[in-house]
Amino acid sequence: MRILVVEDEKELCQTIAEGLRIDGFEVDTCYDGEEAWELIWVEQYNLIILDLNLPGMDGMEILRKIREVNLEVNVLILSARGQVKDRVEGLDAGANDYLCKPFAFEELSSRVRCLTRRRFVQNNIVLTSGELSLNTKTRIAYAKGCEISLTRKELGILEYLMLHPEAVISQEELIQYVWDGSVDSFSNSIRVHISTLRKKLRSALGYDPITNRVGQGYLIGGKKYE
Ligand code: CA
Repeated sequence: MRILVVEDEKELCQTIAEGLRIDGFEVDTCYDGEEAWELIWVEQYNLIILDLNLPGMDGMEILRKIREVNLEVNVLILSARGQVKDRVEGLDAGANDYLCKPFAFEELSSRVRCLTRRRFVQNNIVLTSGELSLNTKTRIAYAKGCEISLTRKELGILEYLMLHPEAVISQEELIQYVWDGSVDSFSNSIRVHISTLRKKLRSALGYDPITNRVGQGYLIGGKKYE
């Protein structure tokens, strides 16, 4: 799950990003409206947390542009503009949620979980594939009912594969969804994480549930385990 935080108060921006990373999300940050719009075009985010008063381009303008081109991304407005008319304007322009500053991080975190879950796993908080399960809320994976200790990246990869059972997922797609824009040597780094994930799964299950289709990508649950 990738989130973009657009907020020109740098310290607040980094605090939000850090909190969401602890919650298990991959987070990019941006302090400027125009730069945000460019990132939104180039990258694929599941959710954008959007301040309204921004240098470069106003948050409402970014939101309108997003909805004009029908980009399917959740937008949560986080703004000091807290009047009813502001909230109505934001929601009417296509925001999925609106939170006023000052706010408690716990509330932001809860709304973020709600928005990302609604879109990607509906009510199904626990994903399953064979003898594997993954609780998307607690961010814990289980093999045959026993907890497996996974890193944040490994968990992200597993989650994305489990959200698309039996589909071949390319490395590029995994990078888009699982990785921070800040990581530079993508392909090497993702191979390492996939490899450590597979090693852990093999050791927990006694077999490797992930299949590698050379030149195409990875899939989970698409073959007999043996
Ligand atoms: Ca601002």
